[in-house]
Amino acid sequence: MKKIIAFVLSIVISVSFFWGVAYASEKNDDPIVLISGFMCSPLYYEYGTENEEKLWIPEADKILDTIKDDLPRFLKTLAGTFIGKTDEFGETVGDGASVIFEKLRMNPDGTSVYNVSHYPNNPETSNIAYMLENGFEEYMYEVKFCKYLAENYDPSEIFMFQYDSRLDAITNAHRLNDFIEDIKAYTNSDKVRIFSLSFGGLISSTYIYLYGDSSVSKYITSVPAIGGTDIPDKILRGNIDFPIGDIAMFFETVLSGEGDVARWFENAEFDKINAIFCSASDGMMSALKYWGSIWSLCSADLYDELKVDFLDPVESAALIEKTDRIHYEIRPAIPRMFRDMQKNGVDVAILCSTGSELALGGKHNGDVVLPAYTVSGATCAPLGMRFADGYTGVKTTCSNPEHNHISPSMEIDASSAYLPENTWFVDGQYHGQYYYEEYTRSLVTKLLLTDEITDIYSNPDYPQFEYSNHASRSVHVKFDNNKTGYLSSADKKLIIENITSDRSIKIFAVNSDGVNLKFDVSDAGTIKAGESVEIPFSGEVPRVSTAAARITVSYIEFGSLNPFCVSEFDIMINNGDASGAKGFIEKGFESRFENNLPDWLYKILSKPFFRQTAEFVYNTVSVLFD
Ligand SMILES: [Zn+2]
Repeated sequence: MKKIIAFVLSIVISVSFFWGVAYASEKNDDPIVLISGFMCSPLYYEYGTENEEKLWIPEADKILDTIKDDLPRFLKTLAGTFIGKTDEFGETVGDGASVIFEKLRMNPDGTSVYNVSHYPNNPETSNIAYMLENGFEEYMYEVKFCKYLAENYDPSEIFMFQYDSRLDAITNAHRLNDFIEDIKAYTNSDKVRIFSLSFGGLISSTYIYLYGDSSVSKYITSVPAIGGTDIPDKILRGNIDFPIGDIAMFFETVLSGEGDVARWFENAEFDKINAIFCSASDGMMSALKYWGSIWSLCSADLYDELKVDFLDPVESAALIEKTDRIHYEIRPAIPRMFRDMQKNGVDVAILCSTGSELALGGKHNGDVVLPAYTVSGATCAPLGMRFADGYTGVKTTCSNPEHNHISPSMEIDASSAYLPENTWFVDGQYHGQYYYEEYTRSLVTKLLLTDEITDIYSNPDYPQFEYSNHASRSVHVKFDNNKTGYLSSADKKLIIENITSDRSIKIFAVNSDGVNLKFDVSDAGTIKAGESVEIPFSGEVPRVSTAAARITVSYIEFGSLNPFCVSEFDIMINNGDASGAKGFIEKGFESRFENNLPDWLYKILSKPFFRQTAEFVYNTVSVLFD
């Protein structure tokens, strides 16, 4: 009898054990590791001792003290900028920066000159539950996102990796491996889920390259810096050209969540600011020159030349050895590695932001910080250009003729992306701002916490291409029978959504270029925040595919400092056969306002501060005479 009981018991135990295993693997309760972007972890001199000093982010007092110590020169050179002498002020700023950042300086071999460290990586004190309980929010790189995740998942199972952003990607990848091994032991898990951002994307990819993917069940990365950037070149060579409009919008969206002031700076040029930063770059360079991160992040095509010009092969040999490996061995292997990870059963997803100039100049389509082609592997038209009508894609990674991987703006061709079926693009989103808008915030959360979304076809709410739905963009448009950005004969209405945080809008005109449609806004009324309106239209959609068009919405945003608004949306007509044309052409309908007004009048009305309002009036009036 005992034997029978033991036998039955052993079956019950083993069945429940297997059920347990099956349940665990289905649910995916692996701990989550968050790896932030460049300079997101605070850095300290002599951390935890009585000499502790916060080096990053520098305290305001330290900046003011530095200015005070050199006040006569600061004021004299500042005054000089008003008569066009920007060099001297730039040098003063650069020298000030080199004083403030002195303790962040590195030796030529890529090691730290001073004793610099950060909040320790220890699973017991690096999980979000502990950090929230103890008020350590400054170590949670995106506090709001961490809290949002914590509402949806056990915060004691979410861990923040801290790192020294001055160090190269290999050194940080070794430290990440140590942390992940500690987390696995601490949580009794075999695997972790990784979410990384920007430089964190390069560090985490390097970690997988060096240690394999056997400890990773999900790998989600937003704007990963795996393909490099021209920023090191711009800083080291003092060759800076700021796109003020994009930068103003970037900061305004971070600080206030709206985009009122930035609209004034559209098309503005600020030569003085550029000149000041170019002159300041010498001072900045002395602090940044031997940072392994800067060399890890450098564009592949500029690395060799910069290395020859700025690094001594003998005294920087140890630094060069690591960054050479990153450039020649690791970075080129990452796209293939992502595809191998998928074959091994790891969920891999990339988010890429597009549609903006880069902060330090250049013609790449990007997110202010990184070019989209290096983040995603997609083929991108240079800014201001697009693919020719009828373009069907290079199809180097995805050759499936059924798949359309061309963005509505016809600037991005994801058929050459590292992962064409697992890369999401957001037009108009800035670097690292995935959390600032509902679309990408919910996408990242779903990718990380559930198995609902396996690729760009899983859920029509998360297509490959979306417009940013950040509140500062005010309106979002979509035709009623297509994915966002595409138009065909099936569409009868345009759905306009008010995506401001709390303002009402009133639509005065909807214009189309590239396709002859008449929109009837007479019943649109006032739209409250979060609400949508359907605008009926008449006119024929041509029987062509991959043809560019544009929708322009003119509206009043009540409560905005700049209430007369114009939002433009690039769309693609997908309504028949594509000709298969190749190459780039000018984007064309930049602005009806610009194309139709006499040059002298356009010059007067297009000045910063006026342009938006003048364009609103022009569009509204032109509809009446159409
Ligand atoms: Zn495909």
